Amino acid sequence: MSTYAAPLQDMRFVIRDLVGLSRIGSMPGCAEVSAELLDAVLGEAGKFAAGVLDPLNRSGDREGARFADGFVMAPRGFREAYQQFVAGGWNDLSAPIKSGGQGLPHLVAMPVQEMWNSANLAFSLCPMLTSGVLEALRLRGSDAQNEMFLAKLTSGEWCGTMNLTEPQAGSDLSAVRTRAVPDGDNYRIHGTKIFITWGEHDLTENIIHLVLARTPDAPEGVKGISLFIVPKFLVNPDGSLGERNDVRCVSLERKLGIHASPTCVLAYGDHDGAIGYRVGAENRGLETMFIMMNHARLGVGLEGVALAERAYQRAREFARTRVQGRAIGQKSGDRVAIIHHPDVQRMLLTMKAQTEAMRALAYTAAAALDKSRHHRDAQERRRNQAFVDLLIPIVKGWCTEISVEIASLGIQIHGGMGFVEETGAAQYLRDARITTIYEGTTGIQAADLVGRKVGFEQGATAFAVTGEMRKLDGKLAQSKNADVAAQRGNLKHAVDGLAAATQWIVDNHPRDPNAVAAVSVPYLKLWGTVAGGWLMACAALVAESKLAAGEGDAGFYRTKIATARFYAEHILPQAAALSSQVVNGAGSVTALGEEQF
Ligand SMILES: Cc1cc2nc3c(=O)[nH]c(=O)nc-3n(C[C@H](O)[C@H](O)[C@H](O)COP(=O)(O)OP(=O)(O)OC[C@H]3O[C@@H](n4cnc5c(N)ncnc54)[C@H](O)[C@@H]3O)c2cc1C
Repeated sequence: MSTYAAPLQDMRFVIRDLVGLSRIGSMPGCAEVSAELLDAVLGEAGKFAAGVLDPLNRSGDREGARFADGFVMAPRGFREAYQQFVAGGWNDLSAPIKSGGQGLPHLVAMPVQEMWNSANLAFSLCPMLTSGVLEALRLRGSDAQNEMFLAKLTSGEWCGTMNLTEPQAGSDLSAVRTRAVPDGDNYRIHGTKIFITWGEHDLTENIIHLVLARTPDAPEGVKGISLFIVPKFLVNPDGSLGERNDVRCVSLERKLGIHASPTCVLAYGDHDGAIGYRVGAENRGLETMFIMMNHARLGVGLEGVALAERAYQRAREFARTRVQGRAIGQKSGDRVAIIHHPDVQRMLLTMKAQTEAMRALAYTAAAALDKSRHHRDAQERRRNQAFVDLLIPIVKGWCTEISVEIASLGIQIHGGMGFVEETGAAQYLRDARITTIYEGTTGIQAADLVGRKVGFEQGATAFAVTGEMRKLDGKLAQSKNADVAAQRGNLKHAVDGLAAATQWIVDNHPRDPNAVAAVSVPYLKLWGTVAGGWLMACAALVAESKLAAGEGDAGFYRTKIATARFYAEHILPQAAALSSQVVNGAGSVTALGEEQF
């Protein structure tokens, strides 16, 4: 059974050489991060992930969270692991120093988060949601609210949750019915929230729920939704815990994966109403929740990267040890490990190349997020904000969809042993399957991409990025390395296809939104595929220059170049098909009437 090993070398390469930590670490408001500090943080996180979280992943999956009499117990070992996590100062690494955090750039916090996700996704959801709550409160919470909640959430002593979904309100949050009735300075919350991740548990003494609800005279739709803090236990003025609030877990969902993460039905206000404190202005709750959701969407995209990495590691180890058949053309002699069969090599490289491309894309988004907040130049902040806004649905949608494919390939490499639970390969597929659904399904991400992002600004940011991609062509043309230069043609065709599809979206967005919606998911996948190829080609060029300079680990750089060439030859050609789907295929998507299905 393989244990998780953090892919430190690739993480360091992407952070330092591809994205450029030095440009991030020197911005005001970001903690100074030297190469030594980065190595220390990644090294220690890797040890914690491998030593504490990974060993609980399978037992947590088998045991699951348990529910009895309104109480939820995390699986064995989770409580102790969480205490160690908090004591180690791992909670919300990018929290600003002034609110008790470590102020690390997202570019440094993200690989750490990737490790938690790889080692134990179910566990890592709990601190991930707390970070999202912190993000929303820091930006919109009142001084009094922040005084009451921020410190303990930042340290991890308390956890946070996000309560949007109701039985009739999933993707469509305009249908939220939970009521918030004014009561003095506060509100009384009544309603039912479903699917609330870590909505009740025994890891911490208090849980701080962020809840979407409507005040009595609120207008219909999304413009009538407000946001409330509802603590499980009320907090006394001296910071100690007071009465139990009127919110209870009434059941846990039985589900396909992430068994250790309790998915709760929460009943608010069965008695007098749960006391809630409004965050921000009345009827503007969804805007604040979007701050948290954007944070969480990047986080969920990263879950895709992390599960793909873990599935790859397990498949690689299996392929090295499973002996089956002889090398092609050999009729006698020793049988070989399956890693020697070209088709298994193809599957492993598909897993490896796409995982590295997704990592490069997710970390690029993290760096853009840092620059959007901390860059000295206001125009650069705006430019990076537009870039990260464009990337968020792509990272969320593409990385999660691909992670499901990669986890499935991991099972294929295991043969029949992948289909039985014993090897653990199946858990990664089961766990990955939720990532394309929660925090907005892939369809919702794609709608965001074609509507609020590309359509709304007539493709301005999208074309700026394809312009950057085109600049690589000249550099690839000058490469002296045949494996690097070979990527040029396929990258050029892929970028042309993306630009053509973007133009089609821009032209049709205002006049035929139905057609645009019909091909929005292929467009999102096209973006991910091409952006991944662009970053892999950039990585190959960096690796070539490192080899020429005689710097670092030559084996790693040669492998990076070969992996990038594989991506260009086996993944990038998909861009032509996706682009054609977008430009030519909308009509047939909507051709059938309901009765014809
Ligand atoms: C394990 C788990 C954990 C979760 N954790 C949380 C949590 O912590 N907090 C929380 O609030 N929620 C949580 N959720 C809920 C989750 O966010 C929703 O399930 C998700 O947003 C989809 O909503 P839905 O299930 O109602 O599906 P629906 O909205 O009914 O969607 C069904 C299908 O229709 C498609 N669809 C719907 N509307 C559109 C549209 N306008 N355009 C195109 N396609 C559309 C969707 O893409 C999907 O394929 C969790 C869910 C699960 C299963």
